[in-house]
Amino acid sequence: MAAGLVDLRSDTVTRPTAAMRESMMAAPLGDDVFGDDPTVNALQDKLAGLLGFEAALFMPTGTQSNLCAVLAHCGRGDEYIVGQMQHCYRWEAGGAAVLGSVQPQPIAHQADGTLALADIEAAIKPDDPHFARSRLLALENTLGGQLMPMEWLRAACGLAASHGLGRHLDGARLFNAAVAQAEGLESDALAEARRIAASFDTVSVCFSKGLGAPAGSALCGSRELIARARRIRKMAGGAMRQSGMLAAAAAYALDHHVERLAEDHALARRLAEGLAGIEGVQALPPHTNIVFVELQAAARERAGALLEHLAQRGVLATGLYKLRFVTHLDVDVAGIDRAVAAVREFFEA
Ligand SMILES: *Cc1c(COP(=O)(O)O)cnc(C)c1O
Repeated sequence: MAAGLVDLRSDTVTRPTAAMRESMMAAPLGDDVFGDDPTVNALQDKLAGLLGFEAALFMPTGTQSNLCAVLAHCGRGDEYIVGQMQHCYRWEAGGAAVLGSVQPQPIAHQADGTLALADIEAAIKPDDPHFARSRLLALENTLGGQLMPMEWLRAACGLAASHGLGRHLDGARLFNAAVAQAEGLESDALAEARRIAASFDTVSVCFSKGLGAPAGSALCGSRELIARARRIRKMAGGAMRQSGMLAAAAAYALDHHVERLAEDHALARRLAEGLAGIEGVQALPPHTNIVFVELQAAARERAGALLEHLAQRGVLATGLYKLRFVTHLDVDVAGIDRAVAAVREFFEA
């Protein structure tokens, strides 16, 4: 990160560490389109094994991973049921509809980010020529940094399965969820990641977020679903060549950057607690590494001015009415304290 900057815009802004770069430089390489990049193959096997799937496929981005998943589950004229605020509905330029002729059926979230089971059930269409064919339920964990309750994930997936629907998890931040879930249990993050994944037919994870790799995601599933996803990835232009250089960074992240996500979560709590004492600001208590901050009515129109004030002091965040601060590998306690001080200065000056 540029010297002196506290970049809290996203956990995607991290630069690979020196050790991660070394592992990238040392990676044995081949041509992954021929299936002979050993580093890509090893990463795919490693992730599939960790999460309890038959197969995995390395992807350039999480967006493409979700797209390949939806299109592997659904054909033209099918639909997928999804939350209004989920990435694979709202934030992917309508890809499933544009590129796959798959109709999204979005559902409003409850206050805790879940989808009401009754809403999911009501959205599943009967087999009738008037309707698109309901084929897939897509969920997300974490959702906006919120940990989704295990019992709900299981119940929602069980409901979908009982209607013959597939289940896809957008687990861009699955390992943040797993680390948060393991806290206070006699468990560890990898065991929790596997437990979360167990309700789903496909799971997508991002290496480029909190795990700190420069790029890359992966989709896990059965051999059959992953074979379909491989064809769609090719069609979408995402089949890379000596991508072992990127896969090496991802493998390094799985070995070294999972448990440490707890540090990012602790920094997020420190930020929220620091902001809690400031008049006009309400920081929602974070489950993981994302802190949403609401400005009280009187301060709302000053959101833009606040972001500018922070940027002038080398603290970057995003948002409009709700500001978003994301912690990651490249921020530390001093940076968080600087962010809090800069917000305080804005409101108390
Ligand atoms: C970032 C993100 C994605 C997409 O990842 P890209 O690599 O940016 O395409 C998908 N889902 C969620 C929940 C994300 O946060």
